[in-house]
Amino acid sequence: MNESGARRPTADRTARSAPSAAPPGDGADETGGDERARVAAGVAGFRAAHGTEPAGVWAAPGRVNLIGEHTDTSGGLAMPFALPHTTLAAASARPDGMLRLHSANAPGGAVELALDALRPAAGGGWAAYPAGVAWAMREAGLPVGGADVHVTSTVPTGAGLSSSAALEVATASALNDLYGLGLTAERLARLAQRAENGFVGVPCGIMDQMASACCTTGHALYLDTRDLAHRAVPFDVAAHGLRLLVVDTRVQHELGDGAYANRHAACERGARRLGVPALRDVAYGELDAALEKLADDPVVRRRVRHVVTENRRVEEVIALLEAGETRAIGPVLTAGHASLRDDFEVSCAELDLVVETANAAGALGARMTGGGFGGSAIALVPDAAADAVAAAVTEAFAAAGFRAPRIFPATPAAGARRLPTD
Ligand code: ADP
Ligand code: MG
Repeated sequence: MNESGARRPTADRTARSAPSAAPPGDGADETGGDERARVAAGVAGFRAAHGTEPAGVWAAPGRVNLIGEHTDTSGGLAMPFALPHTTLAAASARPDGMLRLHSANAPGGAVELALDALRPAAGGGWAAYPAGVAWAMREAGLPVGGADVHVTSTVPTGAGLSSSAALEVATASALNDLYGLGLTAERLARLAQRAENGFVGVPCGIMDQMASACCTTGHALYLDTRDLAHRAVPFDVAAHGLRLLVVDTRVQHELGDGAYANRHAACERGARRLGVPALRDVAYGELDAALEKLADDPVVRRRVRHVVTENRRVEEVIALLEAGETRAIGPVLTAGHASLRDDFEVSCAELDLVVETANAAGALGARMTGGGFGGSAIALVPDAAADAVAAAVTEAFAAAGFRAPRIFPATPAAGARRLPTD
């Protein structure tokens, strides 16, 4: 899902304890950093960590989801775009079947793991994400061997911007090239999701990994998470005199026991009672009849209403963008937030405050993005109102006694790729 969501429960990301990564994006600007300088730093970091030159450097971005939240575990529709913020993996193959993993954003030095000994285990720390990718590839029978990897990133961690998928997809891209596997971007995304589900132990959907692997500059990615059909939809906010602001609330609330697992169990229960394989199969036109059948279970009824109306909102947004009516998507975004808040119940006071304040200060629409319970929100704002909206949100947070949010404009950037090192 946008269960990027299913991240570890933490009351405040700054309080994250080792072995989780420190938020690498804290100092990042809206561009995600100068790419050439970052490649040079990645190569130098590799040299310091492993004592040799890397064979190459691979990049994979974080993402923002424009619309289509908590739909991917029901086989539904989503519409993410890539951020300019990326995770870089400088890497070389090793002949001895060992993985030696180092991250500039994680304390504790290099982690060494033998490929043959990789077993899914809880509590594997940050290295479980890249190790899980190698594990998933081997499980799939792919001829992948050892590697030295050095990771640097400007994707904020645990902010709902999908640093986990960026780390997985950067690693998958590196191993794909180092071992000549010839895998497509879709296959890399599936393997990355398998790593997170089966090795790290996070029951996420496929959206984050597909976004990181398949997005293109200047476009959002219309994604059917059932069959991975996807197409690039032009999303050039600047051409319409608009800006898309990302507001990282910098909080991650403690989730009750298995809040996400519980949401998805409710979706599955709804699908079973409606006699469909997944909620994706409930057409918007059938919603009233479906809700009537679920009258005795108000919770499942709300969860079903969110998923079915959210799939519809993705279709509305695509139609508007393709008609060049970018401004008109604003109210659809805000309606999506209300549905996540009231029906799926994954919002929180900070996210609601961003949406209310941004809309009152001149945004065309706003919503939480990612799994919820903290993380980030987005606001679509006319250029002329951007500063006022950012100031109003910052002031509202101060007045509410919340930690200062981090706000930056996002422009759709490229998906995973190998970067030149000279
Ligand atoms: P999100 O994907 O929304 O950022 P997650 O909880 O899914 O949040 O993933 C965050 C985790 O991914 C971190 O706690 C850390 O274990 C790992 N991670 C992400 N980026 C890095 C990095 N650059 N270096 C080390 N670990 C990282
Ligand atoms: Mg994640």
